[in-house]
Amino acid sequence: MDQIFLNSLRKTTARWRTEDALVADDATGVNLFRLRMMWPVAVALNGVLLIVFLWRWLGTEPPPAQADWNLRLVWTHLFIVAVALGMGWLAHKAGQRRHTLVARWLGTGNAALTMLIGLLLVAVDQAITPNITAFLLACLVAGGVMYLRPRVAAVLYTLSYLAFFKVMGWTQLQPELLLSNRINGLAACVLGCVGSCFMWRQFCTIRLQQRQLEKANAELNQKQRDLERLTRQDGLTGLFNRNTFVELSRRELDRAQRQGSATTILLLDLDHFKRVNDTWGHPAGDAVLRHVATLASSTVRSTDLVGRLGGEEFIVLLPNTSAEAGRRLAEKLRERLEASVVVWEGTRIPVTASIGLSSTTAKEKRDFDTLYTEADKALYLAKQRGRNRVV
Ligand code: GH3
Ligand code: MG
Ligand code: MG
Repeated sequence: MDQIFLNSLRKTTARWRTEDALVADDATGVNLFRLRMMWPVAVALNGVLLIVFLWRWLGTEPPPAQADWNLRLVWTHLFIVAVALGMGWLAHKAGQRRHTLVARWLGTGNAALTMLIGLLLVAVDQAITPNITAFLLACLVAGGVMYLRPRVAAVLYTLSYLAFFKVMGWTQLQPELLLSNRINGLAACVLGCVGSCFMWRQFCTIRLQQRQLEKANAELNQKQRDLERLTRQDGLTGLFNRNTFVELSRRELDRAQRQGSATTILLLDLDHFKRVNDTWGHPAGDAVLRHVATLASSTVRSTDLVGRLGGEEFIVLLPNTSAEAGRRLAEKLRERLEASVVVWEGTRIPVTASIGLSSTTAKEKRDFDTLYTEADKALYLAKQRGRNRVV
């Protein structure tokens, strides 16, 4: 039974240690942020207290014991203001230049200084009051504001308690009050340490869950983008598929007609493509289709739309392009295709295409379906007249 318990304890602590390392940088980030938020508050608060005690020390004439206490508090608050300013500067520098080593130890350093200040304040206070509120507060603030790794917290609170035990022995001379303070100090340190460990565990769990969520979210987004792409693109060539091309073309035509510019479309069909498949096989045919897609995309402007209607038929929409300019581009495309080489398993596959062209000016206001029908007729003529030409 004991063995089982010990084993599960060992496993849990091993898991916690791995998780601690995973969130260490995040904890450093939060600690730095909190330090940057906290130091002005600490300076303001202790600055006011410094002025109050300085005023008292200068203005009135308290009994010697109180004057001493008052002066020590002046020095202590001056020290706190200096520490807060120093911590603020370090936090600023660490955040700016990402000095990770400094940044990582800044949270621990701040917690240790908080304990030291609590200790100083109660040591000074013992001259006039037995209460140890400052030390209690320090125990809560040290591990409550900074995220400390449990091991670090255990060392910090143990050392702090040993120091507290010693300092009380020097400053509290009444045995009953000394005992009471040492017991209360111990309780404060244990509570502070346990609370700090709880906070750290909670931080670990939340951060790791957050990360898992972020990861799942990113994967979902990626899948959604892939799906969207798949519904818009032709799987073989990566060009717009028929539906997307038609939708985009209608939009583009509306825009062009509102702005008063001409639009031209080219319908391109590969010549004797069936022979390619029959002679070299379908994979060779696919390679030719991809080659044509790349060549067409690289020949036109980035604002032109290129799509694959299906099979070996491609379509290009040229915004702001007259019939004459469109014809020149179609001719260039045809020539480049004729001159290009598709090498498949060592053999050269010749490719030519026939292109049917149709065009509209803004005034003519011909819609996409009309342009498509006309381009199709022109393409038929190009095939009839011997292929490898633009009509
Ligand atoms: P034409 O000069 O008259 O256009 O002759 P063609 O052989 O190109 O015309 P046809 O329409 O008769 O043949 C088109 C061929 O394209 C038929 C089909 O096998 C092939 N094809 C259609 N889609 C694909 C594809 O995705 N991959 C491959 N490899 N071939 C395809
Ligand atoms: Mg065809
Ligand atoms: Mg064909």
